[in-house]
Amino acid sequence: MSDVRNVIIIGSGPAGYTAALYTARASLNPLVFEGAVTAGGALMNTTEVENFPGFQDGVMGPDLMDNMRAQAERFGAELVPDDVISTDLTGEIKTVTDTAGTVHRAKAVIVTTGSQHRKLGLPREDELSGRGVSWCATCDGFFFKDQDIAVIGGGDTAMEEATFLSRFAKSVTIVHRRDTLRASKAMQDRAFADPKIKFVWDSEVAEIHGEQKLTHLSLRNLKTDEISELPVTGLFIAIGHDPRTELFGGQLDLDDEGYLRVEAPSTRTNVTGVFGAGDVVDHTYRQAITAAGTGCSAALDAERFLAALA
Ligand code: FAD
Repeated sequence: MSDVRNVIIIGSGPAGYTAALYTARASLNPLVFEGAVTAGGALMNTTEVENFPGFQDGVMGPDLMDNMRAQAERFGAELVPDDVISTDLTGEIKTVTDTAGTVHRAKAVIVTTGSQHRKLGLPREDELSGRGVSWCATCDGFFFKDQDIAVIGGGDTAMEEATFLSRFAKSVTIVHRRDTLRASKAMQDRAFADPKIKFVWDSEVAEIHGEQKLTHLSLRNLKTDEISELPVTGLFIAIGHDPRTELFGGQLDLDDEGYLRVEAPSTRTNVTGVFGAGDVVDHTYRQAITAAGTGCSAALDAERFLAALA
């Protein structure tokens, strides 16, 4: 059993590293579990990030995360490239167990485990991520000016992505598995009224094609089994996200979709001394800068909580 730390941070995306930077500069000596496979978080899987302030010419996602990591480390954050496999957060002293079975103890815990976008599960999907395949229109739409784009999904997010992308794109084709949409009436009406948006119903993506860049999709009609080709250079997959909260069920309040509930605008969860930040909390914005912003808030909330204990 380790000594009791001030604060343990679970997760190493923009939220986790920002919380680490702030708590380290406040001399709280944070211990950060970065994750065994995906240290650095979602931006490790992308190419150019053009909308993180301070980088006039853009920055590669992995470079941005390496910089955040180094900045947190410079002020004394202790970084561990390992997963947390279980937690007990309800007592005054919280415990976090790593993959070797070592139990780490702390007075405060900041949860920044992010959320995982759902994938189609097709070959070439990962290889062409950042090369035509995307999960975020706000992040990448700008790269697809005057191009033909497909959006996969039938919910509010898919409609929102499609109407946003139609500002830049030559055409947007929404591919949906059914013949009706799940999206709200208002979102549907907006998409139906947009002259650049067309629909392919009852269909799924059967194959993604392209070597260096996406070139086209093969679509399967689920009623007839017929395969057709759709030439597109952009594919936006909008079939949902899964917040990484499986460790916290039964301990922390989650909403209907499994996101961590916090007492906004603070980052306090329902358990004293436990704070949540970034995409594990956020349904709405899902950006690096908003994750970093709430990571900062969580660090300041934890700092004030610890000061009140002293
Ligand atoms: P994440 O970045 O998801 O990090 C979560 C971290 O928690 C991961 O490191 C993971 O390993 C760790 N973790 C999870 N469970 C555990 C555990 N049990 N133990 C230890 N660690 C754990 N946003 C922009 O602003 N601009 C962009 O251009 C942009 N492009 C994007 C491109 C892609 C392909 C994707 C997927 C996202 C993009 N985003 C972009 C969105 C942005 O990446 C996210 O909003 C942001 O990374 C969320 O930060 P986070 O810290 O909340 O979580």
